[in-house]
Amino acid sequence: MKALVFSEPGKLQWRDLLPPQLQEPFGALLSPVALSPCTSDVHTVFGGSVPKQENHILGHECIARVVKVASQVVDFKPGDLVAVPAITPNWRAVAIQEGNDRHADDHFSGHRLGRTWPGTFAEYFAIPDADTTLVHVPASLTLEQALMCVDVMTTGFTGAEYAEIKTGDSVCVIGIGAIGLMAIAGASCLGAGRIIAVGTRPCCCELARHYGANDIISYKNGDIAEQVLSRTHGIGVDSVIIAGGNDGVFAQAVDMVRYGIGTISNVNYYGGNGMLAFPKFSSGRGMAGKTIHMELAKGGRARIERMMRMVEYGRVDPQPLVTHRFQGLNEIRTALEMMREKADNFIKSMVLVENV
Ligand code: NAP
Ligand code: ZN
Repeated sequence: MKALVFSEPGKLQWRDLLPPQLQEPFGALLSPVALSPCTSDVHTVFGGSVPKQENHILGHECIARVVKVASQVVDFKPGDLVAVPAITPNWRAVAIQEGNDRHADDHFSGHRLGRTWPGTFAEYFAIPDADTTLVHVPASLTLEQALMCVDVMTTGFTGAEYAEIKTGDSVCVIGIGAIGLMAIAGASCLGAGRIIAVGTRPCCCELARHYGANDIISYKNGDIAEQVLSRTHGIGVDSVIIAGGNDGVFAQAVDMVRYGIGTISNVNYYGGNGMLAFPKFSSGRGMAGKTIHMELAKGGRARIERMMRMVEYGRVDPQPLVTHRFQGLNEIRTALEMMREKADNFIKSMVLVENV
């Protein structure tokens, strides 16, 4: 089969590889119908990471066609149109019984597709546990909507959920790419009163307002913590969701969140090694009463079914996030390059592999 391989830092190559084996007794073999590159793929290829294994195939945002299922699979059959969650916890791990789903076997064990398993940028890919992982795509959802549920929407909502938002809370969402936009939608659904968003791309600012942001501030106009504090009478916001930005945003989040009851929920990725600065003063020298969460997106079948229910019943529509469309597996590389460049009118792309 044809596969796009992450061969060395900064490089992707097309290779002819053997298709993956169907894993007995619960697995499924799948072929992509629609794909989207993720900012995480960009970080992996261009951020100095080295391939985790030989013929490392990236890709974890995918709607797929079931090709084959193993003998004990109950809910899926060849030909089914399915969504594949980006995060695929091992639901048989004992740590799941303690509520530790995304890091159950090891740190980041929930993020396997395109990381420790061959990913979706290929003609075929396999998953080991179909019934706990795959999701039937409801007929009422468009491909774009379904595709945006598997990573972007669940990540944004994870950010909002860990922000512990109560009715009427003030929330700052740092970063309004696809993830931050869905964090705004999540914060709105959870009852945020005022939402301040941080970003500059015009299409993102417009959508941020559409999903519920009241104020938009630019990190290019000075310290965002100062801008948030000056808009909130020096008190700061109840919650901060970090969904974009460089290493400096973490300290800014600590600066701008309220003393005593403030919560920071980070879903942003900080590349490289070293330290994130932690401000001593605004953390009350360790006693400020500010809570910090750092989260990988929630995944698995039930989670994505929940996201799809939000779309199906009209609470959130992630369709406008898809600003660019491509046709054919060959276009993944171009789509990934666009994801890297992030033009003013770009948010997410969809590569259509099979016409549905
Ligand atoms: P994106 O499209 O690149 O959006 C990043 C946002 O951050 C943009 O709005 C950008 O503003 C803003 N930004 C850039 N520099 C900033 C700064 N110095 N201060 C404040 N804001 C700044 O990225 P995305 O696709 O939405 O992804 C967001 C992050 O989530 C990435 O780090 C990605 O790796 C991560 N992620 C995490 C998970 C998870 O499981 N936790 C899952 C998926 C993705 P402008 O573009 O307007 O300049
Ligand atoms: Zn992703």
